Amino acid sequence: MNLTGQVAVVTGGSRGIGRAVCLELARYGANIVFSYAGNTAAAEETLSQLRALGAKATAVQGSVADAEAVAALMKTAMDEFSRIDILVNNAGITRDSLLMTMKESDFDAVLDTNLKGAFLCMKAVSRTMMKQRYGRIINLSSVVGLRGNIGQVNYAASKAGLIGMTKSLARELASRNITVNAVAPGFISTDMTDALPESARQSLLTSIPLGRLGTPEDIAAAVAFLASQSSGYITGQVLCVDGGMAM
Ligand code: NDP
Repeated sequence: MNLTGQVAVVTGGSRGIGRAVCLELARYGANIVFSYAGNTAAAEETLSQLRALGAKATAVQGSVADAEAVAALMKTAMDEFSRIDILVNNAGITRDSLLMTMKESDFDAVLDTNLKGAFLCMKAVSRTMMKQRYGRIINLSSVVGLRGNIGQVNYAASKAGLIGMTKSLARELASRNITVNAVAPGFISTDMTDALPESARQSLLTSIPLGRLGTPEDIAAAVAFLASQSSGYITGQVLCVDGGMAM
């Protein structure tokens, strides 16, 4: 796979899966513009790792749930590189609790970041990609969006919604040589999942046929494939990268 000279915008690139995606795309030659919510130290660390790989890289602070911040993110990419070949909608949050005790604000926050954020980013790049007659959009869903999960009504709704958006936009943009796919990670070891109690972690492990948690690099490898020209005949798909958990 060769992404030399291509430009990727990755949301939530400061940590976890997003950082691994930035680094993997850069290893194949892409230049990177990534966003983050507020962790400047983590964003600086991603930037220095990207530059060590020889990539041109820029970090933009701002929420994906804010249309003006999304416009500024895409403007930065266009001002610096004059094109956007790849969009990875990775930024995501959890606000877990059982439905009966879930606050409306926690439902809204998760839907705003995980679902509306991806909508705003896809809308913001679609004209550019249509003019280019080329684009790759990859949305980070979750096996929770396919199977549901106790305590994650909000998160599951956002991740299932992403799958519907992926398939709809894949149909809308196919004639312009733009593919839109989703990756559904299983249980990946990042800050998001490190908060889980050890007992929950052990019980989850028993449900993973490959017998281990996933790594951010496992997800980044799948994203890079879907971002490459090698995946040109794949659109509207959901690729589970979950050690066999959801099959
Ligand atoms: P982390 O919590 O480790 O990192 C989240 C990233 O998103 C950070 O870079 C954070 O920025 C950024 N972010 C959060 N909110 C916003 C926002 N409003 N605007 C812009 N950036 C934001 O998450 P993971 O790496 O674990 O998860 C990445 C994606 O993969 C998410 O969509 C998640 O739902 C999905 N996923 C993860 C799984 C897992 O097991 N870890 C499983 C299935 C799906 P900052 O550093 O500034 O806070």
